[in-house]
Amino acid sequence: MRRYVVFLLLALLPLTASAQMRDTLRVLCIGNSFTYVCEAHQKLVDLAASEGHHIVMNAQYVGGFTFGRHLQRDETLNAIERPGPQDAFDAVFLQNQSQLHARYATDPDRYAYVLADAKELSGRVRQYSPQARIYLESTWSYPASDSGGFGSLEAFDANSDRGTGLLAKACGARVSYIGKAFARARAAAPDIELLADDAKHQNDYGSYLKACVNYLLLYGERFDARAASCGLDPAKCARLRAVAEEVVLAGDSDAAFAARPANYAGKTVRFKALLYYATNVEEAHRQFALQAIDFFRKLTDGNGWELDVTQDLAESGDLSRYDLIIMPNAAPGSARERSLFEKYMEDGGGWLGFHAAGYNDRSTGWDWFRTFLGGVSFRCNNWPPQPALVQVEGHSHAINRNLPDRFVAPATEFYQWQPDLRSNPDVTVLASLAPENFPMGLKDIVYGGDWPLVWSNGRYRMVYINMGHGDACFSDATQNLLFINALRWVVSTSPKGDPFQ
Ligand code: ZN
Repeated sequence: MRRYVVFLLLALLPLTASAQMRDTLRVLCIGNSFTYVCEAHQKLVDLAASEGHHIVMNAQYVGGFTFGRHLQRDETLNAIERPGPQDAFDAVFLQNQSQLHARYATDPDRYAYVLADAKELSGRVRQYSPQARIYLESTWSYPASDSGGFGSLEAFDANSDRGTGLLAKACGARVSYIGKAFARARAAAPDIELLADDAKHQNDYGSYLKACVNYLLLYGERFDARAASCGLDPAKCARLRAVAEEVVLAGDSDAAFAARPANYAGKTVRFKALLYYATNVEEAHRQFALQAIDFFRKLTDGNGWELDVTQDLAESGDLSRYDLIIMPNAAPGSARERSLFEKYMEDGGGWLGFHAAGYNDRSTGWDWFRTFLGGVSFRCNNWPPQPALVQVEGHSHAINRNLPDRFVAPATEFYQWQPDLRSNPDVTVLASLAPENFPMGLKDIVYGGDWPLVWSNGRYRMVYINMGHGDACFSDATQNLLFINALRWVVSTSPKGDPFQ
């Protein structure tokens, strides 16, 4: 008997969970077979539910349909018009016939009807759901029919992105860069097939990736570790979620700004920074980098400065146009990138490096970098990551001026360096681990010694900050202030002049 009670309780669990949902969004999806095959809209509902968000979904799709044909379809129009003030849609995803946005980009005059239909459809939506966020989906490119008649996936992608961007702008809609996510996944996860046997439509993984992109647009927050895998291989799904996060939250596309709370455009851009990071690294270092991108990007609100993000210094063009390069989790690895970075720093460039970006040992094979850092290499670390008491070394330096004498840094992995950093007369140590921390660690125990955490090598315009392991590093206001101070100081020492004066 007791056993049945347990079964009954387990059966009730999903109901209990739905009662604890954080919020409810009413979502409308209008599309065709690129919407309904493998049910991306249902995966979106499931993904949201696993993150505590309830979606009331209304999906309208017919194979091969364009926006124009939906405008002549009673069911679609009824779905758009049904909302009363209480049940208007919060978000609407519009997915056109798969090649039309790309065609529009190649010949806007000939395909003027694509623009007219997109305006008409989004206008109808806005009439009945005035608050709704409207997303125009950029459909992925595919090999079938000679890449939809564009000759190559790249040409298809480029036109599709551009066409969707132009149409969205004209409609006052936002772009859902699903095409970009598919292109990124082709490069980052080539072993995960996203298309069905027809080399055109989405299979379950493609449909999952589409749902991930739209989830991130809706909620503007990263996935929880327990995000739904919708019955698919959890490891593959985790990689596809990471791709979607890169494109939507960390990408250089307009999509990264789609969920921003406010736009204070029109101010002067004071300086320009480049953030360089790697994803093929320890998970805790990847997490920190993604959070760093969010953190610094938020500081660009109001367009006071500009931040570009890259994973390849060699592809970033002329580095000298940047007042600062931020490296949250990696230093350059290839010979080409290393020589570009050396030249940039030797010519007066600025650097703000965190944690693993300063890591170097015998195997690194980059003497210049060791000298640049102040002449030190990694010696050892505490483990596991944990909070620690930090002592701020004096308040005369601009970075330390408004910091307290001591603060507790959120959990991170701390590095010790060798040989003695303080014996280098060019180095100014700005913060270190307080002696009260020792002995510190549960697995790898460290017993004391000098642990410089923040320093500058006066021969360069640089600051190194040891924090940067895991997802807690941006959770402390004092430490965030230190990060901002460091960024501000590096920029303020630019040979082009202090942009803050
Ligand atoms: Zn680490």
